[in-house]
Amino acid sequence: MTRDRLRLAVPNKGRLLEPTLELLRAAGLVFEDHDRSLVARVRNHPLDILFVRTNDVIEFVRDGVADLGVTGDDLLAEKMIELPRIRSLGYGRCRLAAAVPTDALPQGLDDLAGKRIATAHPNATRRFFDQRGTAVEIIALSGAVEVAPRLGLAEAIVDLVSTGSTLVMNGLRPIGDILESEAVLVGGSDPEGATHERVMAIDAMLAAVIAARDRKYLMMNAAVGRLPALEELLPGLASPSVIPLAHGGMIAIHSVVDADAIWGLLPRLRAAGATGILVLPIEKLVP
Ligand code: AMP
Repeated sequence: MTRDRLRLAVPNKGRLLEPTLELLRAAGLVFEDHDRSLVARVRNHPLDILFVRTNDVIEFVRDGVADLGVTGDDLLAEKMIELPRIRSLGYGRCRLAAAVPTDALPQGLDDLAGKRIATAHPNATRRFFDQRGTAVEIIALSGAVEVAPRLGLAEAIVDLVSTGSTLVMNGLRPIGDILESEAVLVGGSDPEGATHERVMAIDAMLAAVIAARDRKYLMMNAAVGRLPALEELLPGLASPSVIPLAHGGMIAIHSVVDADAIWGLLPRLRAAGATGILVLPIEKLVP
């Protein structure tokens, strides 16, 4: 179906809502809060944002009601619906992990052979153990999975874990991962389709923000003779920019570096002769 305005389906509450809104706004999209409405009209781009239940995003995209959607890898795996994954979004990270009561015997996933596993992800769990050739009994629940062992409903659970503190609070111990998940942008399956180019344009906007999040812009001054040593420390996107300064023999060096590397890098840059080092956030980055 061809529409004037693209539609992006996003979760209307829950863990993926806030980081999704933050990403869309950081990409420069301007829209009203969704509080009272299902649809938010983006004012500066031909895009409507549909706020739907986390669990329904995939169906909205599959059925063509939305051209794009934000969901989780875990939900894609569970629904067994093949939708093109356009891009991982870098938030909503968690893993689907198997856990047993702290004092139970199983140490690894293969020790679950013949056991009952309670989970709200029965399809992903069944497929995982089938592929492994480990026979287990799946008890499908829609919530409160972590209390199943205590109630005598199952010997183990498979549930989403990010920090692991919920498991600990429920007297459970993780013994292995079924899959890793993060938020993902999914889109219509037709690269020849009428909306394809516009879908890719939205993806490019989000990609520029995501790429910028992991990087910092680094500026420093140095005597020109220090350049080779400093350049060695700065892998960056390409070669650093080197700008002559007004006064004798000094240069400014600008470079883009991994955010995680900054704290390790600063003392080494200082030691190699850099002064006046500035670290700046990057708003958008198109490599
Ligand atoms: P919601 O139930 O609406 O909060 O959204 C659940 C989705 O958030 C899951 O399907 C995952 O993709 C993602 N997620 C990220 N971390 C966690 C976590 N620790 N527990 C549950 N869901 C998580």
